[in-house]
Amino acid sequence: METIRVKEVEYNNAPAHHQLYHQNVKRFTEEFKTIHNIAPKFIIQTYGCQMNEHDSEKMSAMLINLGFEETEVLEEASLVLYNTCSIRENAENKVYGHLGSLKSLKRKNPELIIGICGCMMQQEHIVETIKNKYKHVDLIFGTHNLHLLPQLLNQSIAADDMIIDVWDNADSVVEGLPVKRKRNSKAYVNIIYGCDNYCTYCVVPYTRGKIRSRRAEDIVAECKLLIDEGVKEITFLGQNVNSYGQDLEKKVSFAELLTMVNAIEGKFRLRFMTPHPKDLSDELIMAIANLDKVCEYLHLPVQAGSNSLLKAMNRRYTVENYLEKVNKLKRAVPDITLSTDIIIGFPGESEADVDDLIELIKIVEYDSAFTFIYSKRGGTPAAKFDNQIPEPLKHQRFDRMLKVLNQIVKRKNAALLDREFEVLIEGKARDKNYMIGRTRQNHTVNVLADGIEIGDFVDVRITKAGGFSLYGEKLSNE
Ligand code: SAM
Ligand code: SF4
Repeated sequence: METIRVKEVEYNNAPAHHQLYHQNVKRFTEEFKTIHNIAPKFIIQTYGCQMNEHDSEKMSAMLINLGFEETEVLEEASLVLYNTCSIRENAENKVYGHLGSLKSLKRKNPELIIGICGCMMQQEHIVETIKNKYKHVDLIFGTHNLHLLPQLLNQSIAADDMIIDVWDNADSVVEGLPVKRKRNSKAYVNIIYGCDNYCTYCVVPYTRGKIRSRRAEDIVAECKLLIDEGVKEITFLGQNVNSYGQDLEKKVSFAELLTMVNAIEGKFRLRFMTPHPKDLSDELIMAIANLDKVCEYLHLPVQAGSNSLLKAMNRRYTVENYLEKVNKLKRAVPDITLSTDIIIGFPGESEADVDDLIELIKIVEYDSAFTFIYSKRGGTPAAKFDNQIPEPLKHQRFDRMLKVLNQIVKRKNAALLDREFEVLIEGKARDKNYMIGRTRQNHTVNVLADGIEIGDFVDVRITKAGGFSLYGEKLSNE
């Protein structure tokens, strides 16, 4: 696997043609400034998972380096970028809706550059639709070449036609891209790209390509830098983080990577998402138990509660394996909290499958869950299964499952009353008397704001635990 380093590419060590792209775009932003007395502004609308959010943080930094400024007001923008998600049909429909409404903005401001990138663009039929129906779009690129944004922008500024550049796959890892993080106290760090699991419902292996792990030394160096800059929580990102390192020449296990980063000096927390249950090894369970910076929280997507559905989904574990691993985890890390992903309405699902799922939810007692209604994704095996479930039935089953899940989550939340936790403060709460933060176990807590800053670790006692929200007050130090 080749590693491409783009550090300094921007302006210094870049090949001549790269420098030219950068210089051209910078000239464009400077001329804009001369004419309008303000820098051209950009807005990136991000859909989907943390991977997309982090990609957008990289694109923001590239644009700022080129002389753009970020705005949250669509009408102010000279460049609008949609970073799209394909995981479910409604994510795609939202993008089409927003693209349609940009038509009038483009009419008012023909200089506006409209770009669209991310997972949707990795699918040929979607690019065709945009080419034919959304002719006001200027630039289309995919998930594998976002590091070339300056070059693509340069082409788009110079051309009258739509620029389309989507790569089928990536056989390299790009290092050194700048990042403009949304929050200073928390940082995402990609450790592995792509996915080789081919769950039969999922589009990700087709939009994000084969797995490519970053070298451990690059990850550790990035984490060190972040801690030096004052970051208090690092979240490792990957579609299947615990298959990390198996594609590297010098194999490194995920638990070994956690151990290396845990050894960095300083007070910080370490989280990761998403691990796959089939790859949850004893070594990883012990790492969660023993490494002081690794939080006592695991998101362990189960998807279904019966072996026949898990097999049809190609998840490669059984209910029994899953529960055995959960038990091991609970024994090794007694205060661990668990969350999960659940899909209702997968082809062939019966009422008995839903009963089994509810039974599993009751056994595990999840602290939270992301629940989804199955969405047929073109190009995936399950889209061709002939036993699709009618929409109204999916919704009925979804409600049945959610009722039980919510009861459990509420009960577990209520049991937190009067307990004490260390909370990392992340931002201001909606109620301005409160700040909001998270426990190591990933509970969100509203903490009375008195003298508390973002990035503080605060010992808190839970004073109110109603429904899904938690309130707490800072413990005095005496
Ligand atoms: N890689 C992670 C894993 O294996 O658990 C999750 C990746 S995916 C971005 C997040 C979640 O979306 C999945 O866990 C699954 O529950 C859900 N999902 C994926 N494809 C779906 C589909 N076709 N319909 C409904 N939900 C889907
Ligand atoms: Fe999709 Fe399965 Fe890969 Fe997760 S592990 S990204 S659900 S194919």
